[in-house]
Amino acid sequence: MIALRVLAVASEVFPLIKTGGLADVTGALPAALAREKIAVRTLVPGYPAVIGGLGRTRVVMRRDDVFSGPARVLAGRAGDLDLLVLDAPHLFDRPGNPYVGPDGNDWPDNAERFSALCQTAASIGIGAIKGYQPAVIHAHDWQAGLAPAYARLEGGPASVMTVHNLAFHGRAPASMMGRLGLPPEMFGVDGVEFHGAISALKAGLHYADRITTVSPGYAAEIQTPAFGWGFEGLLRHRAGVLSGILNGIDTTVWNPAADPAIKAGYDVTSLDRRAANTVALRERMGLLPDPIAPLFGVISRLTDQKGMDLLLACLPGMLADGGQLAVLGSGDPALEAGFRRAAREAAGRVGVVIGYDEALAHQMQAGIDALLVPSRFEPCGLTQLCALRYGAVPVVSRVGGLADTVIDANAAALGAGVATGVQFAPSSVDGLAEGMRRAGTLFRDRGAWRRLMGNGMAADVSWTAPARQYAMLFRHLVETRAA
Ligand code: ADP
Repeated sequence: MIALRVLAVASEVFPLIKTGGLADVTGALPAALAREKIAVRTLVPGYPAVIGGLGRTRVVMRRDDVFSGPARVLAGRAGDLDLLVLDAPHLFDRPGNPYVGPDGNDWPDNAERFSALCQTAASIGIGAIKGYQPAVIHAHDWQAGLAPAYARLEGGPASVMTVHNLAFHGRAPASMMGRLGLPPEMFGVDGVEFHGAISALKAGLHYADRITTVSPGYAAEIQTPAFGWGFEGLLRHRAGVLSGILNGIDTTVWNPAADPAIKAGYDVTSLDRRAANTVALRERMGLLPDPIAPLFGVISRLTDQKGMDLLLACLPGMLADGGQLAVLGSGDPALEAGFRRAAREAAGRVGVVIGYDEALAHQMQAGIDALLVPSRFEPCGLTQLCALRYGAVPVVSRVGGLADTVIDANAAALGAGVATGVQFAPSSVDGLAEGMRRAGTLFRDRGAWRRLMGNGMAADVSWTAPARQYAMLFRHLVETRAA
């Protein structure tokens, strides 16, 4: 089988630049696809962290004027990632978050920044880099959404749009069509227009040859008004080319048997060793030693999407039931303040670290008893996959990828010995409270809890099966195009 060349286009890639699960996916999928004979090169913006993380580079493309400044494409590697980096300092050489400035607002030129990324992708798609011709452009989320549109304009290769989160639309005013190099006839329902503006996400959803999202459950949900953000009509119309492929996790980065961040390594045959991590975590989070209390944990953006307001409302009940909570996250200032207050008011029972901390995320997964993911919607969710692998029992709302990856401990699943966690519905205060109560009851039955942990740790959360599905999709797409 000859290797098929795929140009991935994304704004984040782990370990160089990450604000969420998107980076984990674009960072891990290429290696898994390589085993399926798919050769992925990933085009990313030249943020300082990206440029700084590259080894030796080679200039493979130059442009004199990309939105009023010069740009080059650098080819380089970071670990096993084969990267193409759009080095345009006037667009990307800025400190901090990739999308928002120090004032907390979106960078005013975000439309130009990501348009530049997508125009570069389309140029590469038609051979702008000598000796490199991708067969497929794989666009990730709105930042790459214009790539399928430009590829269509340029007569470029086939494209796939993967939606990691439909909530972010990449809007720009209609008046920018010309500036972004989009002809007026593309501004319409059958084009990039969405509610009177340009939407980069809509562009991808409309022009890509295939659409994928990160779980079969979310693929179905986004065709309904409750989860479709207004795109449900378009997505229903394109249902024939829309599919869901679950995310995996990098099982070498997330491996409790060989994790340099945790105190005691363990696997399913040495679960007793895990307790040392729980003791260490309680200490780190300022929690009282209380081995009979279920230690719930959260590793999350602190936002309404993630149901963090629901969790705050549930805290009194959880404390009354004797539980403890450890939170690692950052996000909405009001929610951050809410969790800080909870930690003050329930000192020793609620421990909170506001911030982003990879090592602590690993220590949390290795130490907590149960991971709470009470999302209102969840395209796939990665933290529950890490939790399964680390023997932290996931307690999740029954939406999207959460419903697809956690087997609820109902009577049938317990009887069959296949349960891996707790699902609850709806995503509400009462729903979450009930889910936590059920988890607490299961926790007190040590045998039942151990079986949940063991089943979770035995689940395949690797990229192997998903990569096979992406590979099939890419090959099928190229074959049907050629036919
Ligand atoms: P989303 O992409 O919607 O934020 P996911 O569950 O898909 O949610 O991915 C989140 C990723 O970010 C996971 O790898 C998770 O471990 C990580 N993460 C989230 N918040 C933090 C944090 N405060 N510190 C460290 N890692 C975090």
